[in-house]
Amino acid sequence: MKYISTRANAPELNFEQAMLTGLARDGGLYVPESFPTFSSDEIADMAGQSYEEIAFRVMRPYIGDTFTDTEFKDIIARAYAGFGHAARAPLVQLAPNHFLLELFHGPTLAFKDFAMQLIGQLFQAALGRSGDRVTIVGATSGDTGSAAIEAFRGLDNVDVFILFPHGRVSDVQRRQMTTPADDNVHAIAVDGDFDDCQAAVKDMFNDFEFRDAVGLAGVNSINWARVLAQVVYYFSSAVSLGAPHRTIDFTVPTGNFGDIFAGYVAKRMGLPIGKLVVATNQNDILHRAISGKGYIKQGVTPSISPSMDIQVSSNFERALFDAYDRDGAAVTQLMDELKAEGGFTISQGALQRLQDVFTSGRCSEDETSRTITEQFAATGEVLCPHSAVGVKVAEEHQDAQVPMITLATAHPAKFPDAVEQAVHQRPALPERMKNLFDLPERVTRVENDLAAIQTLIKEGRRG
Ligand SMILES: *Cc1c(COP(=O)(O)O)cnc(C)c1O
Repeated sequence: MKYISTRANAPELNFEQAMLTGLARDGGLYVPESFPTFSSDEIADMAGQSYEEIAFRVMRPYIGDTFTDTEFKDIIARAYAGFGHAARAPLVQLAPNHFLLELFHGPTLAFKDFAMQLIGQLFQAALGRSGDRVTIVGATSGDTGSAAIEAFRGLDNVDVFILFPHGRVSDVQRRQMTTPADDNVHAIAVDGDFDDCQAAVKDMFNDFEFRDAVGLAGVNSINWARVLAQVVYYFSSAVSLGAPHRTIDFTVPTGNFGDIFAGYVAKRMGLPIGKLVVATNQNDILHRAISGKGYIKQGVTPSISPSMDIQVSSNFERALFDAYDRDGAAVTQLMDELKAEGGFTISQGALQRLQDVFTSGRCSEDETSRTITEQFAATGEVLCPHSAVGVKVAEEHQDAQVPMITLATAHPAKFPDAVEQAVHQRPALPERMKNLFDLPERVTRVENDLAAIQTLIKEGRRG
């Protein structure tokens, strides 16, 4: 399997190279040159298999000869061994034909563990073999950073620097990043918002001298391997509700468009997904774009679902690439317009293609809070605010005849203040992380300045 850039001006890579590289050198994102497909029988045969077995079958066609089957099975087994639920991604029923896919049983209590734990094992295997060293730099609105630090802490060939917006992540999120004592992981609090952090990471990737000097590697959802890991739970959940013999709809709380793009990939691979519903909070650029109002940046307004407080949604570029018939020059032009003018309009043909696959909805702060209250009263399920955004938008798009799966992206205890306000009790952390608030924190605060951040990284690396 070859990987190509959405801007058509970077070398083609194999899986290992695409995984270690992250962002393409032309500023684009790597995508597979084509999507492998499963027959109906092959999908039916996944029913009843373990999460790990389904993961192997779904991802195998993308790996090429980077790993043997035995190596890859071992990598998958190690990635999910630390999860706090035997099913890894269990389904819970909320209402007739409405199901919640609980993706928060990993080590940092958010769905990002599914991809990050796998990537940690993939990097370890690949770098262990080559002896190369890399520096991972990532931007986080909270959950990516903690998942990355947890996945890479203590690894020999990897240094990790995570940029997060100072004061804009929850205490649990921050402590998950600042309490690991391993000297290869570094939490950096930037005086700015998430988009500033993400822009700094992109600028570092485009600074080739710096990029090559530190061996920069990216684990933000621009990394194809992360998207790939997330394709798996669309298959595992859909087959347990009767796919491929029934169509299944999905609603996905969305920020950077990575998780929902994984759903799109599953659909392209033959999984019978009906609707793919993009659920946004009040920072609704994606809802506006999919509704035909153009992709126009506005300021970010902090919300109670902070992991979705995003205006530049990196992975949307992958969807645009397909919507524009894989025309890299057209995508480059849109991204240049975004950078220069803060937005672009989507051509009629491309918009039609996007709307053939995606629908969207928006959930206000009040609605988010009310949904947490109502779901707790109706089912006893305590939702995190992100999952509540999903549930609310899913209810608006639910078709009585078609099972709807809403992705629950984080554990409620990761966002205890918003949850307590809605249900009048404080959600408890799982037993295995009870000591999080007793550990000392380690964090470096830095102004929103690229050179200052680069200096911190150069000086903080080992070896
Ligand atoms: C990252 C995150 C999201 C958004 O996922 P994307 O892949 O960026 O769209 C939603 N909810 C939670 C809890 C997250 O951590």
